[in-house]
Amino acid sequence: MILNRVMNNGVRQLIRQRIQANLLPRDQTIELWHGPDLWKTCDGCGLAIVPAERMSLLCADDWKVIRLHAACFDIWAEERRVVPTARKD
Ligand SMILES: [Zn+2]
Repeated sequence: MILNRVMNNGVRQLIRQRIQANLLPRDQTIELWHGPDLWKTCDGCGLAIVPAERMSLLCADDWKVIRLHAACFDIWAEERRVVPTARKD
């Protein structure tokens, strides 16, 4: 794993900011699959997902495809619950 504990905190901040900026969904998404993918960029931390790492592929409400490292997926799953929503509904 390339993510150590210190870096994990930085990634958590980044993912939280991306949720707040609506670059990552905060709503329920469809999980398409979990598995390796080749050199795609993680939408959480912005780093490449190397073949040795697990990737989670998601589909958001607007059918935007989101790719996350397995570790970034776990952080996103936590952060999307704690980031306050700006919605009124
Ligand atoms: Zn990542």
